[in-house]
Amino acid sequence: MTRRAGLAPTRALIGAPLIALVLVLAGGACSGQRSGSAPGSGAAGGTGAAGTSTSTAAHTPARYVFPVQPSASCKASYGHFHHDYPATDIFTGRGCRFVAPTDGTVTEVARVDRWDPSSNRGADRGGRSVAIVGTDGVRYYGSHLERVASGIAPGARVRAGQLLGLIDNSGDAGTTPTHLHFGISWPTRPGIWWVRRGIVYPWPYLDSWRAGGSRSPARAVRAALAEAGTPEPPCRSGC
Ligand SMILES: [Zn+2]
Repeated sequence: MTRRAGLAPTRALIGAPLIALVLVLAGGACSGQRSGSAPGSGAAGGTGAAGTSTSTAAHTPARYVFPVQPSASCKASYGHFHHDYPATDIFTGRGCRFVAPTDGTVTEVARVDRWDPSSNRGADRGGRSVAIVGTDGVRYYGSHLERVASGIAPGARVRAGQLLGLIDNSGDAGTTPTHLHFGISWPTRPGIWWVRRGIVYPWPYLDSWRAGGSRSPARAVRAALAEAGTPEPPCRSGC
């Protein structure tokens, strides 16, 4: 159930060289790489960096989906608070799906749960996790997964709603109710986990997406980055 046509071997092979370009595009305001190709068209032949950006004239509004699916059988609840830093813990059932909230490119994947309570390293608290950078320039991170979906690796392109992994209790969530830790941040180089875990509160956007809306966190993330003054500010809490 994890196979997707969009991750065929040919796409995977060309994916790696494209990641640098994708990241550059995602980091810019509106870099104008492509034209045509409506969101969701998923042209099987692939057209270079298709889907990573917008026309030079205007942004194509990003499409968003609630990151815990299927909504019919996987009830999800979350509050407006998170310990130490902005993020949202989405409580749901074990084995429910963490899906891409929007079109984007996978940037970081942890397939092995390395968390050890005796060391409690911040980098390992998420257990198994996936981060993507959306075509909106925003990074989305989900952790405490049971496993990462087949084909989900750095450089892989994903579509909104595509399976990234199954939700569980990996990392430091072993004794908590099952939840997806969901973080929204600006993109960084790999390993900057204290930014990746969350910079702005996701719940207002989750509210929108669950109701079928498409509220974008892009502006809030850009504002937060401007306020921080650097993409790699020091870790200040829960470090
Ligand atoms: Zn959390």
